[in-house]
Amino acid sequence: MKYPDVKFALNRGLDYWAAKEFRVGSSDYVDEFYKSHRKKLETFAKLSKSRWDKISPSFFRTTSKIFKNHPWPKGKYIGYISIFNCNPRFLKDKTFQVYFKHKAGSNFVTAHELLHFIFYDYAIRKHADLFRGKNTESGVFWDVAETFNSVILHLPEFVRILGVKKQIIYPEHKIYISRLNRLWKEKPEIDSFIIGAYKLMQGRNILRRR
Ligand SMILES: [Zn+2]
Repeated sequence: MKYPDVKFALNRGLDYWAAKEFRVGSSDYVDEFYKSHRKKLETFAKLSKSRWDKISPSFFRTTSKIFKNHPWPKGKYIGYISIFNCNPRFLKDKTFQVYFKHKAGSNFVTAHELLHFIFYDYAIRKHADLFRGKNTESGVFWDVAETFNSVILHLPEFVRILGVKKQIIYPEHKIYISRLNRLWKEKPEIDSFIIGAYKLMQGRNILRRR
């Protein structure tokens, strides 16, 4: 099994973009920040890499078991250090941003985004009937992807690997989480989970639109 080698790098240009996209600052602010904190950001990039390399064998081993040895999709696998707490991911080229002061730490952010990369690839290939043509950024495809992460990253094996005990859930998914945790517990198998979670949440957005 071939696993991606995740790298971490600064990317000031992407922070200009994030500042604008998420309305969290200006290019001047980014420049100022880089001027006074560049060393800190570089240190964080190095630390993120060494921390990730320590846990990545167990992360990939555990993830492969869940995804039935589904191959990792091709991509760059770079975590770009960010001065903003937005943490977007780019499914297309398999890159993402990591806030340099993220509370859960860079390993958790990296694990979360990597799970998305393999999850979306797996889901679209194995469950095209459910997800073909569906938006990955909102709606039921996004709901299933995010709640899958909440359930999976809270399993004892991932808590052990990542050291994050708290289950992280989007507010709109809170009402589903105990049922989804139970779904996995009763049958820890990805395909039935995807179908079950899909059925549970497919009406959510219709309800909200009313
Ligand atoms: Zn996510």
